[in-house]
Amino acid sequence: MSLGNGRTYLAIPGPSVMPERVIRAMMRAAPNIYHGELPDMMPDLIRDLKSVARTRHNAAIYICNGHGAWEAAAANVLSPGDKVLVASTGRFSHGWAEVARSLGIEPEILEFGLRSPIDPERVKERLAADTEGRIRAVTVVQTDTSTSVRSDVPAIRRAIDAAGHDALLMVDSIACLGCDVMEMDAWGVDVLVTASQKGLMTPPGLGFVFYNDKADRWREAVKSVSYYWDWRPRTEPDYFYRYFAGTAPTHLLYALREALDMIAEEGLEQIWWRHGILAQAVWAAFEHWGEEGPLELNAPDRSFRSHAVTGVRVGSDKATELRNWCENQAGLTLGIGLGMEPTDHFFRLGHMGHVNAQMVLGALATIEAGLKTVGIPHARGGAEAAGEVIARNTSP
Ligand SMILES: *Cc1c(COP(=O)(O)O)cnc(C)c1O
Repeated sequence: MSLGNGRTYLAIPGPSVMPERVIRAMMRAAPNIYHGELPDMMPDLIRDLKSVARTRHNAAIYICNGHGAWEAAAANVLSPGDKVLVASTGRFSHGWAEVARSLGIEPEILEFGLRSPIDPERVKERLAADTEGRIRAVTVVQTDTSTSVRSDVPAIRRAIDAAGHDALLMVDSIACLGCDVMEMDAWGVDVLVTASQKGLMTPPGLGFVFYNDKADRWREAVKSVSYYWDWRPRTEPDYFYRYFAGTAPTHLLYALREALDMIAEEGLEQIWWRHGILAQAVWAAFEHWGEEGPLELNAPDRSFRSHAVTGVRVGSDKATELRNWCENQAGLTLGIGLGMEPTDHFFRLGHMGHVNAQMVLGALATIEAGLKTVGIPHARGGAEAAGEVIARNTSP
């Protein structure tokens, strides 16, 4: 017997919940890829995509996942033997470093652990010590999805500038573009990578690399960029085929078009606000439950918690049991404790993209029932505490 039939909530955290509108936009015959509406919609699509990243510079679209976007970004600005400073706050920070290493690039890891953000001061010190200018770029994962720690990107820009270093600032906002605030140009981000399947509410399969003129000068210094990863033809296509180095991801583009329309209709500031309030509701629930027993949010400091995903420490090996109960008995699929040891002491709740108050409150009430069922000690009333946050921030 199960109470799980009905509309499910996939909170793993990515792929995230897809809006009906986005799914329906793909229900159509394949379009002509040589002329007509698909090629014609590209300029507006690129314009709207750039507006979500808050950049007036370039946007290249790849048929790939986040790993592909990592490789694309690295391949355009770094050469074998180049050194890159990897400021790490979790599994995904290391993932980008591994991709770079496979290209012959030398990552140097600056470790900040699994519970705290990047300390800009340490970035500054390391860059100041690089008197020969060997470090070509600093990579930062804005929200590391494994830990849900969000770093202060503008502070890292200021640290690079204060060190008088000309390394590129390369940022991964795959988890959180469209959830946590991102101001690519205003914050001085040189390269920004993201993907379709999280805050952008679109199926997996599109990777995005935004880059400014400085990054394009780094591109100039790279001897050879592979045919597929080269961002130049994709941002200056002389014909439609060149946007994607081959056949376009036709249906994903319709899905993305719809998602960007939804973002424009709601407004990016409003979307950031919604994610902020929903995240506060999530935190209120866990902070309340944690008043008795071992349950704890992974990121202790509110100002460094993501608004897209929340990592939880269960304090025992019961996280897997809890996740299984939520999925099988209630239709809520929580994320595994990725990159954490031991994995079954952790879980994550994705609240990115197409999520609203009833989904988050439902998820939290489900988790509260699950805590009880599997026997994880907690203070009763966390879901109610979350409801109070929602009530405080809305009007009748
Ligand atoms: C999901 C994610 C990735 C990896 O994306 P894939 O599509 O799984 O390759 C990388 N970085 C961050 C921050 C992510 O959230």
